[in-house]
Amino acid sequence: MKKVSFVIPMYYEEKVVEECYKRVKKVLNELTQYDSEIIVVNDDSKDQTLPILENLAKNDKSLKVISFSRNFGHQAAVTAGLQYVTGDAIVIIDADMQDPPELVKEMLELWEQGNEVIYGKRKVRKGESAFKLLTAKMFYQTLNALSDVEIPKDTGDFRLVDRKVVDTINQLPEHNKFLRGLFSWVGYKQIPFEYERQERFAGTTKYPLKKMLKLASDGIISFSTKPLKLVGTLGILSVLISFILLVYAIISYIFKLNDLSAGWTSIMVAITFFAGIQLLSIWVIAEYIGRIYDESKRRPQYIIDKKINIEE
Ligand code: UDP
Ligand code: MG
Repeated sequence: MKKVSFVIPMYYEEKVVEECYKRVKKVLNELTQYDSEIIVVNDDSKDQTLPILENLAKNDKSLKVISFSRNFGHQAAVTAGLQYVTGDAIVIIDADMQDPPELVKEMLELWEQGNEVIYGKRKVRKGESAFKLLTAKMFYQTLNALSDVEIPKDTGDFRLVDRKVVDTINQLPEHNKFLRGLFSWVGYKQIPFEYERQERFAGTTKYPLKKMLKLASDGIISFSTKPLKLVGTLGILSVLISFILLVYAIISYIFKLNDLSAGWTSIMVAITFFAGIQLLSIWVIAEYIGRIYDESKRRPQYIIDKKINIEE
Protein backbone atom coordinates (compact mmCIF):
# COMPACT_ATOMS: atom_id res chain seq x y z
CA MET A 1 0.00 0.00 0.00
CA LYS A 2 1.29 3.45 -0.84
CA LYS A 3 1.72 5.84 2.04
CA VAL A 4 0.83 9.51 2.44
CA SER A 5 2.77 11.61 4.95
CA PHE A 6 1.91 15.02 6.31
CA VAL A 7 4.66 17.33 7.57
CA ILE A 8 3.35 20.07 9.84
CA PRO A 9 5.55 22.68 11.58
CA MET A 10 4.16 24.23 14.76
CA TYR A 11 5.23 27.25 16.72
CA TYR A 12 2.95 28.44 19.51
CA GLU A 13 -0.06 26.75 17.95
CA GLU A 14 -1.89 25.51 21.05
CA LYS A 15 -5.12 27.00 19.74
CA VAL A 16 -4.99 25.10 16.49
CA VAL A 17 -3.28 21.77 17.29
CA GLU A 18 -6.44 19.80 17.96
CA GLU A 19 -8.40 21.21 15.05
CA CYS A 20 -5.43 20.63 12.77
CA TYR A 21 -5.02 17.03 13.91
CA LYS A 22 -8.75 16.37 13.58
CA ARG A 23 -9.03 17.72 10.06
CA VAL A 24 -5.89 16.09 8.73
CA LYS A 25 -6.82 12.80 10.36
CA LYS A 26 -10.28 12.93 8.82
CA VAL A 27 -8.82 13.42 5.36
CA LEU A 28 -6.38 10.56 5.89
CA ASN A 29 -9.10 8.25 7.20
CA GLU A 30 -11.14 8.90 4.09
CA LEU A 31 -8.18 7.98 1.91
CA THR A 32 -8.64 4.30 2.65
CA GLN A 33 -6.45 3.19 -0.24
CA TYR A 34 -3.35 4.69 1.42
CA ASP A 35 -1.35 4.14 4.57
CA SER A 36 -0.67 7.34 6.44
CA GLU A 37 1.42 9.20 8.97
CA ILE A 38 1.54 12.71 10.37
CA ILE A 39 4.83 14.25 11.43
CA VAL A 40 4.54 17.35 13.53
CA VAL A 41 7.64 19.37 14.21
CA ASN A 42 7.34 21.45 17.34
CA ASP A 43 9.64 24.43 16.82
CA ASP A 44 10.11 24.90 20.58
CA SER A 45 6.72 26.36 21.42
CA LYS A 46 6.59 27.19 25.11
CA ASP A 47 2.81 26.98 25.32
CA GLN A 48 0.62 23.88 25.45
CA THR A 49 1.44 22.77 21.89
CA LEU A 50 3.78 19.96 22.91
CA PRO A 51 1.72 18.56 25.83
CA ILE A 52 -1.36 18.43 23.59
CA LEU A 53 0.65 16.65 20.91
CA GLU A 54 2.06 14.18 23.42
CA ASN A 55 -1.43 13.38 24.53
CA LEU A 56 -2.68 12.81 21.00
CA ALA A 57 0.36 10.71 20.15
CA LYS A 58 -0.36 8.33 23.02
CA ASN A 59 -3.45 7.04 21.24
CA ASP A 60 -2.19 7.31 17.68
CA LYS A 61 1.10 5.69 16.75
CA SER A 62 0.93 7.19 13.27
CA LEU A 63 1.25 10.67 14.80
CA LYS A 64 4.96 11.31 15.10
CA VAL A 65 6.37 14.27 16.91
CA ILE A 66 9.77 15.89 16.69
CA SER A 67 10.52 18.64 19.16
CA PHE A 68 13.38 21.12 18.76
CA SER A 69 15.70 22.26 21.53
CA ARG A 70 14.99 25.88 20.61
CA ASN A 71 13.23 27.89 17.93
CA PHE A 72 15.01 27.20 14.66
CA GLY A 73 12.36 28.63 12.34
CA HIS A 74 9.77 27.37 9.93
CA GLN A 75 12.17 26.28 7.18
CA ALA A 76 14.27 24.26 9.61
CA ALA A 77 11.14 22.63 11.01
CA VAL A 78 9.95 21.50 7.59
CA THR A 79 13.48 20.37 6.69
CA ALA A 80 13.56 18.21 9.81
CA GLY A 81 10.16 16.74 9.04
CA LEU A 82 11.34 15.79 5.55
CA GLN A 83 14.26 13.88 7.05
CA TYR A 84 11.91 11.63 8.99
CA VAL A 85 8.99 11.06 6.62
CA THR A 86 8.50 7.55 5.35
CA GLY A 87 5.66 8.13 2.87
CA ASP A 88 5.57 7.85 -0.92
CA ALA A 89 3.65 11.11 -1.25
CA ILE A 90 4.56 13.87 1.16
CA VAL A 91 2.35 16.84 1.98
CA ILE A 92 3.83 19.98 3.53
CA ILE A 93 1.21 22.10 5.21
CA ASP A 94 0.93 24.85 7.84
CA ALA A 95 -0.71 24.10 11.16
CA ASP A 96 -3.12 27.03 11.00
CA MET A 97 -5.37 25.42 8.35
CA GLN A 98 -4.96 28.35 5.96
CA ASP A 99 -4.29 25.71 3.35
CA PRO A 100 -7.22 23.27 3.50
CA PRO A 101 -5.97 19.68 3.97
CA GLU A 102 -9.10 18.42 2.15
CA LEU A 103 -7.46 19.52 -1.10
CA VAL A 104 -4.92 16.77 -0.71
CA LYS A 105 -7.41 14.31 -2.21
CA GLU A 106 -7.31 16.16 -5.53
CA MET A 107 -3.56 16.63 -5.25
CA LEU A 108 -3.13 12.89 -4.83
CA GLU A 109 -5.01 12.30 -8.07
CA LEU A 110 -2.53 14.58 -9.85
CA TRP A 111 0.28 12.67 -8.16
CA GLU A 112 -1.13 9.33 -9.32
CA GLN A 113 -1.08 10.74 -12.85
CA GLY A 114 2.67 11.05 -12.60
CA ASN A 115 3.21 14.60 -11.36
CA GLU A 116 6.00 14.82 -8.83
CA VAL A 117 5.63 18.29 -7.32
CA ILE A 118 2.10 19.61 -6.95
CA TYR A 119 2.53 23.08 -5.52
CA GLY A 120 -0.28 25.13 -4.06
CA LYS A 121 -0.81 28.46 -5.76
CA ARG A 122 -2.98 30.95 -3.91
CA LYS A 123 -5.76 32.42 -5.99
CA VAL A 124 -7.19 34.43 -3.12
CA ARG A 125 -5.80 35.10 0.32
CA LYS A 126 -8.51 35.63 2.84
CA GLY A 127 -8.16 37.54 6.06
CA GLU A 128 -4.67 38.85 5.55
CA SER A 129 -3.67 42.44 6.11
CA ALA A 130 -2.98 44.77 3.20
CA PHE A 131 0.53 45.05 4.61
CA LYS A 132 1.11 41.29 4.45
CA LEU A 133 -0.23 41.11 0.90
CA LEU A 134 1.93 44.02 -0.23
CA THR A 135 5.10 42.67 1.37
CA ALA A 136 4.41 39.21 -0.03
CA LYS A 137 4.03 40.69 -3.51
CA MET A 138 7.27 42.66 -3.15
CA PHE A 139 8.97 39.51 -1.88
CA TYR A 140 8.12 37.45 -4.97
CA GLN A 141 8.92 40.31 -7.35
CA THR A 142 12.32 41.01 -5.84
CA LEU A 143 13.11 37.35 -5.63
CA ASN A 144 12.29 36.66 -9.24
CA ALA A 145 14.02 39.79 -10.49
CA LEU A 146 17.19 38.80 -8.69
CA SER A 147 17.31 35.05 -8.57
CA ASP A 148 18.35 32.59 -11.23
CA VAL A 149 15.56 30.08 -10.68
CA GLU A 150 11.94 30.85 -11.34
CA ILE A 151 10.07 30.74 -8.05
CA PRO A 152 6.37 30.61 -8.88
CA LYS A 153 4.35 33.60 -7.74
CA ASP A 154 1.89 33.23 -4.86
CA THR A 155 3.38 29.90 -3.90
CA GLY A 156 4.14 29.13 -0.30
CA ASP A 157 5.24 25.88 1.22
CA PHE A 158 1.93 24.05 0.81
CA ARG A 159 2.59 21.26 -1.65
CA LEU A 160 2.48 17.54 -2.28
CA VAL A 161 5.74 16.01 -3.42
CA ASP A 162 6.93 12.60 -4.47
CA ARG A 163 9.36 10.54 -2.39
CA LYS A 164 11.99 11.00 -5.11
CA VAL A 165 11.91 14.77 -4.69
CA VAL A 166 12.18 14.58 -0.91
CA ASP A 167 15.17 12.24 -1.22
CA THR A 168 16.83 14.72 -3.57
CA ILE A 169 16.20 17.62 -1.18
CA ASN A 170 17.48 15.59 1.77
CA GLN A 171 20.69 14.82 -0.06
CA LEU A 172 21.51 18.46 -0.79
CA PRO A 173 24.51 19.34 1.34
CA GLU A 174 23.56 22.94 2.12
CA HIS A 175 22.43 23.59 5.64
CA ASN A 176 20.30 26.66 5.39
CA LYS A 177 17.60 25.39 3.11
CA PHE A 178 15.21 27.82 1.45
CA LEU A 179 12.69 25.15 0.58
CA ARG A 180 10.32 26.81 -1.82
CA GLY A 181 13.30 27.83 -3.94
CA LEU A 182 14.86 24.38 -3.76
CA PHE A 183 11.63 22.60 -4.69
CA SER A 184 11.56 24.68 -7.84
CA TRP A 185 15.30 24.33 -8.44
CA VAL A 186 15.36 20.51 -8.32
CA GLY A 187 13.08 20.23 -11.33
CA TYR A 188 11.03 17.03 -11.90
CA LYS A 189 7.46 17.08 -13.11
CA GLN A 190 5.88 20.12 -11.53
CA ILE A 191 2.33 21.33 -11.70
CA PRO A 192 0.55 24.22 -9.96
CA PHE A 193 -2.59 23.62 -7.97
CA GLU A 194 -4.78 26.68 -7.55
CA TYR A 195 -6.70 27.16 -4.34
CA GLU A 196 -8.17 29.80 -2.08
CA ARG A 197 -6.12 30.53 0.98
CA GLN A 198 -8.31 30.71 4.05
CA GLU A 199 -8.09 32.71 7.21
CA ARG A 200 -6.03 31.43 10.07
CA PHE A 201 -8.16 29.05 12.18
CA ALA A 202 -6.98 30.71 15.39
CA GLY A 203 -4.02 32.55 16.81
CA THR A 204 -1.88 35.09 15.01
CA THR A 205 0.83 34.91 12.39
CA LYS A 206 4.19 33.58 13.57
CA TYR A 207 5.91 35.50 10.80
CA PRO A 208 6.59 39.00 12.09
CA LEU A 209 8.34 41.43 9.78
CA LYS A 210 11.74 40.43 11.12
CA LYS A 211 11.28 36.78 10.22
CA MET A 212 9.85 37.72 6.84
CA LEU A 213 12.88 39.86 6.04
CA LYS A 214 15.17 37.00 7.06
CA LEU A 215 13.27 34.62 4.79
CA ALA A 216 13.46 37.10 1.92
CA SER A 217 17.19 37.63 2.27
CA ASP A 218 17.76 33.87 2.63
CA GLY A 219 15.79 33.34 -0.55
CA ILE A 220 17.61 35.97 -2.54
CA ILE A 221 21.09 35.21 -1.34
CA SER A 222 20.89 31.44 -1.57
CA PHE A 223 19.56 31.62 -5.13
CA SER A 224 21.44 34.46 -6.71
CA THR A 225 24.70 36.32 -6.93
CA LYS A 226 23.04 39.18 -8.74
CA PRO A 227 23.24 41.56 -5.74
CA LEU A 228 27.02 41.16 -5.92
CA LYS A 229 27.02 42.05 -9.59
CA LEU A 230 24.75 44.99 -8.85
CA VAL A 231 27.40 46.26 -6.47
CA GLY A 232 29.92 46.12 -9.31
CA THR A 233 27.62 48.10 -11.56
CA LEU A 234 27.17 50.73 -8.86
CA GLY A 235 30.93 50.97 -8.52
CA ILE A 236 31.46 51.49 -12.24
CA LEU A 237 28.71 54.08 -12.29
CA SER A 238 30.20 56.08 -9.46
CA VAL A 239 33.67 55.99 -10.97
CA LEU A 240 32.19 57.32 -14.20
CA ILE A 241 30.40 60.13 -12.39
CA SER A 242 33.50 61.16 -10.51
CA PHE A 243 35.52 61.09 -13.74
CA ILE A 244 33.05 63.44 -15.41
CA LEU A 245 33.26 65.72 -12.37
CA LEU A 246 37.04 65.69 -12.59
CA VAL A 247 37.02 66.73 -16.25
CA TYR A 248 34.55 69.46 -15.42
CA ALA A 249 36.75 70.71 -12.59
CA ILE A 250 39.86 70.83 -14.77
CA ILE A 251 38.08 72.67 -17.55
CA SER A 252 36.61 75.14 -15.07
CA TYR A 253 40.07 75.74 -13.60
CA ILE A 254 41.75 76.35 -16.95
CA PHE A 255 39.05 78.57 -18.37
CA LYS A 256 38.14 80.18 -15.04
CA LEU A 257 34.46 79.35 -15.66
CA ASN A 258 33.54 79.48 -12.00
CA ASP A 259 35.23 79.39 -8.65
CA LEU A 260 35.18 75.76 -7.52
CA SER A 261 37.00 76.54 -4.27
CA ALA A 262 33.66 77.73 -2.92
CA GLY A 263 32.10 74.31 -3.54
CA TRP A 264 31.98 73.00 0.02
CA THR A 265 28.41 71.75 -0.36
CA SER A 266 29.06 69.87 -3.56
CA ILE A 267 32.12 68.21 -2.04
CA MET A 268 30.20 67.11 1.03
CA VAL A 269 27.39 65.75 -1.10
CA ALA A 270 29.83 63.81 -3.25
CA ILE A 271 31.69 62.39 -0.27
CA THR A 272 28.61 61.25 1.59
CA PHE A 273 27.11 59.84 -1.60
CA PHE A 274 30.12 57.72 -2.40
CA ALA A 275 30.68 56.72 1.19
CA GLY A 276 27.07 55.59 1.22
CA ILE A 277 27.53 53.50 -1.89
CA GLN A 278 30.63 51.93 -0.42
CA LEU A 279 29.00 51.01 2.86
CA LEU A 280 26.02 49.61 1.01
CA SER A 281 28.29 47.50 -1.14
CA ILE A 282 30.17 46.21 1.86
CA TRP A 283 26.86 45.28 3.45
CA VAL A 284 25.81 43.21 0.42
CA ILE A 285 29.17 41.46 0.34
CA ALA A 286 29.04 40.92 4.08
CA GLU A 287 25.67 39.18 3.76
CA TYR A 288 27.24 36.63 1.46
CA ILE A 289 30.35 36.22 3.57
CA GLY A 290 28.17 35.79 6.65
CA ARG A 291 26.35 32.95 4.98
CA ILE A 292 29.56 31.33 3.76
CA TYR A 293 30.78 31.56 7.35
CA ASP A 294 27.56 30.00 8.65
CA GLU A 295 27.72 27.13 6.19
CA SER A 296 31.42 26.56 6.79
CA LYS A 297 30.82 25.93 10.48
CA ARG A 298 28.84 22.86 9.48
CA ARG A 299 26.55 23.19 12.43
CA PRO A 300 23.25 21.38 12.01
CA GLN A 301 20.26 23.40 10.87
CA TYR A 302 18.33 22.25 13.93
CA ILE A 303 18.75 20.27 17.14
CA ILE A 304 16.16 17.70 18.14
CA ASP A 305 15.33 17.49 21.83
CA LYS A 306 12.62 14.86 21.77
CA LYS A 307 11.06 12.34 19.42
CA ILE A 308 7.76 10.59 19.90
CA ASN A 309 6.61 7.48 17.99
CA ILE A 310 9.72 7.56 15.82
CA GLU A 311 11.93 4.51 15.57
CA GLU A 312 15.45 5.04 14.30
N1 UDP B 1 6.29 28.24 12.24
C1 UDP B 1 7.35 27.52 12.80
N2 UDP B 1 8.42 28.21 13.33
C2 UDP B 1 8.49 29.57 13.32
C3 UDP B 1 7.42 30.30 12.71
C4 UDP B 1 6.34 29.61 12.18
O1 UDP B 1 7.33 26.29 12.82
O2 UDP B 1 9.46 30.14 13.80
C5 UDP B 1 5.15 27.50 11.66
C6 UDP B 1 3.78 27.93 12.17
O3 UDP B 1 3.41 27.25 13.35
C7 UDP B 1 2.88 27.58 10.99
C8 UDP B 1 3.80 27.79 9.80
O4 UDP B 1 5.13 27.75 10.29
O5 UDP B 1 2.48 26.23 11.01
C9 UDP B 1 3.51 29.09 9.08
O6 UDP B 1 3.47 30.15 9.98
P1 UDP B 1 2.32 31.25 9.95
O7 UDP B 1 1.01 30.62 9.64
O8 UDP B 1 2.39 32.03 11.22
O9 UDP B 1 2.80 32.16 8.73
P2 UDP B 1 1.87 32.97 7.70
O10 UDP B 1 0.85 32.01 7.17
O11 UDP B 1 1.27 34.06 8.49
O12 UDP B 1 2.85 33.43 6.67
MG1 MG C 1 -0.40 30.90 8.28
